[in-house]
Amino acid sequence: MNKKYRKAIIAGNWKMNMLPTEVKPFTEELRPLLPRQKTCEVALCVPHTHISPLRRSLKDSRIAVGAEDVSVHDKGAFTGEVAADMLADLGVHYVIVGHSERRANHAENDFMVGAKAAAVLEKGMNPIICVGETLEQRERGLTMEHIGYQVLAALSAVPDEKVRQCVIAYEPIWAIGTGKTATPEEAEEVCEGIRAIIRSRHGARVARSVSILYGGSMNAKKAKELLSMPDIDGGIIGGASLKPADFAKIIDAVAEVSEED
Ligand code: PEP
Repeated sequence: MNKKYRKAIIAGNWKMNMLPTEVKPFTEELRPLLPRQKTCEVALCVPHTHISPLRRSLKDSRIAVGAEDVSVHDKGAFTGEVAADMLADLGVHYVIVGHSERRANHAENDFMVGAKAAAVLEKGMNPIICVGETLEQRERGLTMEHIGYQVLAALSAVPDEKVRQCVIAYEPIWAIGTGKTATPEEAEEVCEGIRAIIRSRHGARVARSVSILYGGSMNAKKAKELLSMPDIDGGIIGGASLKPADFAKIIDAVAEVSEED
């Protein structure tokens, strides 16, 4: 399927790393390493405490600011939660929802993930909806069944006309932070399956315009092969997004792939 209908996106996920004071030195090191020509959207998804410093450091830059999570609630007595309009007000563009670490450590279910995606869209931002199987599910041949359910459950909360603004991230749990990257063929098979599910529910036009990313130990060496696959439109980068040089090499890989197309 033709990639020209959708955005290539490389999104860093810092998780609970770095200090707000480390944001400026990081971006000062990263910015000169980025390709002159924009070949993809670059985003940094950071802890809520880092959003304002990141926004300030990225002034006049084309790197987008992202958040790692959002509340399902609009406002009110939810101590410690951060609402979608608070993030939008800070200039956030992308919000990760349903990361496997939140599903596992904070008991987030598919219903909550869908509600978060809808809240993000309502405030004019783009959700990055994470889905992925455990090693056990993969070994038992349940990968697509599980992922299909996660995708449909999340998108069922999203108004039809906004599905194309969603980004789906396929992140096999066994690959996250383990150094065990999925092979390009394994990742493509699932990303193609996700697109087929979107096509069957929302039609071919929507399916061809939804960006589907791969995440899970993606590094500079493996990026190009993964990004060359027809249904992989970019990556979520955890560990490698904490080092400007490594992150920039992954962004370079997008440029190399688009030159070869
Ligand atoms: C992630 O947590 O979203 C991720 C992709 O992490 P890593 O690249 O470190 O596996």
